[in-house]
Amino acid sequence: MANHPVLVVHGGAWAMPDDMVDAHLRGVSNALAAGWRVLEKGGPSLDAVEEAVVVMEEDETFDAGRGSFLNSEGRVQLDALIMDGRTLRAGGVGCVEHLSNPVRAARKILSESPHVYFVGEGAEQFAAKHGVPLCKNEDLVVAREVDRLREYQAHAAEHRKDLFAPTISHDTVGAVAVDNRGNIAAATSTGGTLNKAPGRLGDSSLIGCGCYADNDSAAASTTGWGEPIMKLVLAKWSADRVAAGNAPEWAAQEAMNYLKSRVDGHGGIIVLDRLGRFGIAHNTPRMAWAFKNEKEEKRGVER
Ligand code: ASP
Repeated sequence: MANHPVLVVHGGAWAMPDDMVDAHLRGVSNALAAGWRVLEKGGPSLDAVEEAVVVMEEDETFDAGRGSFLNSEGRVQLDALIMDGRTLRAGGVGCVEHLSNPVRAARKILSESPHVYFVGEGAEQFAAKHGVPLCKNEDLVVAREVDRLREYQAHAAEHRKDLFAPTISHDTVGAVAVDNRGNIAAATSTGGTLNKAPGRLGDSSLIGCGCYADNDSAAASTTGWGEPIMKLVLAKWSADRVAAGNAPEWAAQEAMNYLKSRVDGHGGIIVLDRLGRFGIAHNTPRMAWAFKNEKEEKRGVER
């Protein structure tokens, strides 16, 4: 099936202040360019979403890779998932502390393991054995996040009631793509939430929650407060709406309505089907997004 490639990326949904908009727009544009280089050469959507996410993991603007939020012990703990809509193969890592590009490890799991999901040390050992370099946890920590955690913990009591208010940033990154063979893929990568308990896993790397791809329905990647999102298995929920005959644009918006009405959650989602139809929606004030096809390229922080 000849198809026109499409790539959609996001870089977190929250009440992003004006002075952070440019960095986010630059970041999603760079990710788009990296993913598009794969698609325009006729490469697979799986490679495109991996390359797009790697760029955002390497950009300290985002809560992924170096520059991620710190957990309550001041360490970076990362989660990532990548999924292939043609085969339904998937690879995920959770709570890894020594990988600057967890999506690369997730991709190795997808390609080279009979298993789907590895956590902690086992994930890191698997990655190292398959050529993904390990790093020190300190290499993932930036001064901005040390200050942010210190400030947050100093005012912990005040924050408790609005711990997950949209003013707290959600800078998880994700990508969905369809290639010229009509195959779709999705990837999501995150440092999780600020001051999270060690070992806490959010929605981002769980199949069907923060990431999903099936050629028979849709590819989706979410961001936002992970606990409500995972309770609704929101990425799969959205893909199922597309399989039932709805447009991805509608499914994305409905997912946000459902998130709010059912569990009072907030966040954002990108949804794409193999025809290249896509939706971008968020119920936070802003979400960094960008998309590209053969005819146009757009980016923004509102939708
Ligand atoms: N969904 C992520 C989590 O809960 C956070 C985010 O999207 O920024 O781990």
